[in-house]
Amino acid sequence: MPELPEVETVRRGLNLTTLSQPIVGGDVLLERTIAYPSFTTDFLDGLRGRAIAQWQRRGKYLLAELVDATHQPAGYLGVHLRMTGQLRWLSQDDPLQKHCRVRLFFPENRELRFVDQRTFGQMWWVPSDRPPASIMTGLQALGPEPLSDDFSVDYFAKWLRDRQRPIKNALLDQSLVAGIGNIYADEALFLSGIRPQTLCARLKSRQIQRLYEAIRDVLQTAIAANGTTFSDFRDVQGTNGNYGGVAWVYNRDGEPCRVCSAPILRLKMAGRSAHYCQACQR
Ligand SMILES: [Zn+2]
Repeated sequence: MPELPEVETVRRGLNLTTLSQPIVGGDVLLERTIAYPSFTTDFLDGLRGRAIAQWQRRGKYLLAELVDATHQPAGYLGVHLRMTGQLRWLSQDDPLQKHCRVRLFFPENRELRFVDQRTFGQMWWVPSDRPPASIMTGLQALGPEPLSDDFSVDYFAKWLRDRQRPIKNALLDQSLVAGIGNIYADEALFLSGIRPQTLCARLKSRQIQRLYEAIRDVLQTAIAANGTTFSDFRDVQGTNGNYGGVAWVYNRDGEPCRVCSAPILRLKMAGRSAHYCQACQR
């Protein structure tokens, strides 16, 4: 599943390709990809003639600021990639992918294509008189951006203090901090030497400090590598990221720890796999 660094990589690619040209039409191949409005014709009507001024990211959500022909604000296009969603910048003549769900047409035969094998991905059109969070309701519950000043070590420690749940599950909770998923939670816990099943309330301040720094380091490293090579993540040009080759524990169960050579273990937690080293993490 794409996490913050992968979505950020997509956002940067979209800002280099899709801006300042009107959306001239589109085609919805799978109706339920459009989470709002209810009718796909309304979705396409809302976008037609609008141009994208800028792509923003909030957690794992992408938000395109739309403008009309006179450059006045004209609402938003929202996208969540979920498990397998990909936004691809292509020519309209490029062969249609088997899992293509939505096509948005641009001048000069260009196209922004939403390809999504597992079909959990979502798109929204937000009219200009509505705040995005009133329609993309998942935005309401998001905690701070992990690389912003709002995510401070004090905030982090306070949130964790009384919680009797495993730290791995807390890191996946988007209301604690936005954008972290299974990959970067496992990596940050390894880097800070904390086992995923440790209860939040049992963490000592120096562990919280280390984890806080590890979260920011691992996300920055992954953004610099343009996201992971894991799963079927692709940027808008269809290129895989570079982070995967250096993963410490994620998806490496049974392989030797890169630090101590002990086999990496896998544990089921809240329906997800946690990967960790029993020797390096306490
Ligand atoms: Zn180890």
